[in-house]
Amino acid sequence: MPIPANGRYSTDSTLTERREVIVVGGGQAGLAIGYFLAQQGRDFTILEAAEEPAAAWRERWDSLRLFTPERYNSLPGRPFPGDPDRYPGRDEVVAYLADYARGFGLPVELGSRVLSIRMADGGYLVELDDRTYEADQVVVATGPFQVPFVPAIAERLDPEVVQFHSSAYRSPQAMPEGPVLVVGGGNTGFQIAKEISDSREAHLSIGSRQMPLPQRILGRDLFWYLEATGLIRKTTASRIGRRLSGRDTLIGSTPRALRRHGVKLHARAVDAAGSTVSFSDGTKLDVRNVIWATGFRVDHSWIDVPVFDESGRVAHQRGVTESPGLYFLGLTWQHTRGSALLGWVKDDAGYIARQIGAFRSGQPDEAGGPGARRSPDLTYRDRRRAA
Ligand SMILES: Cc1cc2nc3c(=O)[nH]c(=O)nc-3n(C[C@H](O)[C@H](O)[C@H](O)COP(=O)(O)OP(=O)(O)OC[C@H]3O[C@@H](n4cnc5c(N)ncnc54)[C@H](O)[C@@H]3O)c2cc1C
Repeated sequence: MPIPANGRYSTDSTLTERREVIVVGGGQAGLAIGYFLAQQGRDFTILEAAEEPAAAWRERWDSLRLFTPERYNSLPGRPFPGDPDRYPGRDEVVAYLADYARGFGLPVELGSRVLSIRMADGGYLVELDDRTYEADQVVVATGPFQVPFVPAIAERLDPEVVQFHSSAYRSPQAMPEGPVLVVGGGNTGFQIAKEISDSREAHLSIGSRQMPLPQRILGRDLFWYLEATGLIRKTTASRIGRRLSGRDTLIGSTPRALRRHGVKLHARAVDAAGSTVSFSDGTKLDVRNVIWATGFRVDHSWIDVPVFDESGRVAHQRGVTESPGLYFLGLTWQHTRGSALLGWVKDDAGYIARQIGAFRSGQPDEAGGPGARRSPDLTYRDRRRAA
């Protein structure tokens, strides 16, 4: 159906609007690309599912301190305020992102969850429950940490055992009394177990050891060294980038330091029954509270465009997919370690913005741009069915 000159028409009571570019997700990645699109003078909208800006950060625990100091938390065009060597808290990031969107007048539509993206007439249909957008190009910036993952053994615990995913943890005070087992040896598990151990008995189950890195070395922050040595910008195409991307890092803590702090360490949690959790070394623990700091999965099942590989992962080159005009931004290790971090997402955002700018001419901005694509074959759902 042709789009009328005013860009709007209505079918079956569903309003359809037209935009040159739609950005899905209004977190730091969506805002960073929004900044560049605004600079290019594009006709675009950022669709954000949550009712408030910075939704992902709002859902993190009360005492969270960033592992990146303020000097490395700036999105393009606006420095993160305050002492560059300070590690800000959660609410400061929320305030910064809200200010950022307001300050640049970015067109963020809150309460706008995208339910599907489909190909149509050389562009895309972006569908919400109450309206649809037609767009030439779409950027998916829905975050690297979407769906809380809890292992299946959790179901075997009695209902009397209080258990929840780390994304629901706020503070020790907000938890029922008694000892707490935190499961998961990443940064989140370490930080939560440490905080809980200040006021009660805390246990931490570490499934796989992550590479511990000190937060500060000789008075300088870790990220200063990663910048100075260029490691933060090593790409997944390089040997060192590939090696680094395969290993999670534990910043500013070690198992030994945590033990000294009073946290009791356990091996991988492998089973549960009643109120008992069993560990891979044969030991067991009676539990009353369990926090699953066991990570997140991404969910792209709502994207009905053939850009996924056999295991359901997005097939892309630095966020540029094989489907012309469809991009991803903010994926973990999308291009470098910095891809999913506040201070470096601008590198990929600038790159995608240049691809968007070059799209009409059909000329890729750099190697790997639109002209480098192969033709798509399977959708996410096809791949999942085949797997
Ligand atoms: C515990 C924790 C601590 C971290 N600490 C740091 C740190 O110290 N420094 C640092 O640089 N990084 C840190 N990160 C990593 C990273 O900066 C954050 O995960 C950041 O939130 C990622 O930004 P994003 O914009 O890519 O995704 P998100 O912030 O997750 O934003 C995605 C947005 O998309 C929206 N959305 C999702 N699906 C849809 C849909 N279908 N339709 C519309 N909207 C949708 C969501 O509501 C959300 O607002 C941390 C991450 C975690 C989990």
